[in-house]
Amino acid sequence: WTAARELAAALVGDSAGDWDVEGKLPADVLLRMGAEGVLCPQVPQEYGGLGMDSLNCGELTAEVGSRCSSLRSVMTSQGIAAWCVARLGDDAQRAEWLPRLTSGALACVAFSEPDAGSDLSAMTTRIRPDGDDVVIEGEKVWTTAAAYADLILVFGRYADGAAAVVVPSHTPGVRTERRPDPLGCRAAGHADIRLDSVRLPRGSVLGGAGQPLGMLVTSALTYGRLSVAWGCVGILRACLAAACRHAATRRQFGKPLAGHQLVARHLADLMVDEQVATLICRQASGHWDERTPDLVTSAVLAKHVAARRAADGAARATQVLASAGARDGSVVARAYRDAKLMEIIEGSNEICELILAEQAVTAWA
Ligand code: FAD
Repeated sequence: WTAARELAAALVGDSAGDWDVEGKLPADVLLRMGAEGVLCPQVPQEYGGLGMDSLNCGELTAEVGSRCSSLRSVMTSQGIAAWCVARLGDDAQRAEWLPRLTSGALACVAFSEPDAGSDLSAMTTRIRPDGDDVVIEGEKVWTTAAAYADLILVFGRYADGAAAVVVPSHTPGVRTERRPDPLGCRAAGHADIRLDSVRLPRGSVLGGAGQPLGMLVTSALTYGRLSVAWGCVGILRACLAAACRHAATRRQFGKPLAGHQLVARHLADLMVDEQVATLICRQASGHWDERTPDLVTSAVLAKHVAARRAADGAARATQVLASAGARDGSVVARAYRDAKLMEIIEGSNEICELILAEQAVTAWA
């Protein structure tokens, strides 16, 4: 994973602040990251992927996340799409889509709708069989990377169950409208998507006919939660480095800020945040790699702990830098805005707490 890490470091450099202000990732960076398979590193080598395990993929995700949460968000979307094709698709679909996802095609994943946010069971997008085709009608909102994507993985109702369908973004009836001025991850290409009588061959539906919506969503979100959690580790590492460097060099009241005990406590808390988030992500990735039944819960736990720690840690780092960090494009200001969003996506804090409470009662009552 060293080569992938070095590539990400070289391509991002210190440009993420400018990309954030411009609200756009450069096309050549996305193309290169995609073509090298770095955006979905767990895809097996037989499909052109890097064949990483979850732990190495996580560390790579943290590296990208420490530099640019917008690019890490694109990586999460691409990874979910590839994982869904690998997990839910048949042999022909894996052979068709995975090599595209590891050679430059970009993908986004569309669950959320105007009236289906936390409650995805309220989804109304319909995927209807029609002869050898399917026809899709619906509206999706806030889809990360949709502004860049060649392929959209759309989740919707299918017969009595649900399905996930791979929709090329240029298909007639697909309309994408950029979300202006998001709070954070401003270059991640969030967009709303309208699907009006979108007709595709039935072979575009992953794994064929209707499956339980809960199973499809859990499968996709487990990858997404783990990826977001590792991204939060990256945010914390960037904040820890920025806060420590600043506190070691900036002097007030005759000594470095780090010499003032109240500032030192911020640094200690940040270090604890980074360590706790890293350890809980390593545990969840270990469960992924060992395929243990604890995986679904440990991915929720990792996402919840890492997102909360990242939001707290980014606020702390911003406090340490004070005016030195209080401008658009600064590492800590960007982290502060990006980390807040991590408490909302892939299951908000509250939804994670509900899932964890249910698990706790099952295990401990
Ligand atoms: P709501 O569901 O309306 O919730 C509002 C508040 O109420 C939240 O605090 C929530 O936790 C709380 N709440 C809701 N229900 C309960 C309950 N039962 N108990 C306690 N509290 C509750 N969607 C996609 O499909 N694909 C993407 O790529 C994608 N990317 C996103 C990127 C960003 C930056 C953002 C902001 C959103 C993205 N989303 C995406 C949508 C995201 O998944 C939803 O925003 C998220 O699921 C929350 O839904 P909501 O915003 O509609 O909030």
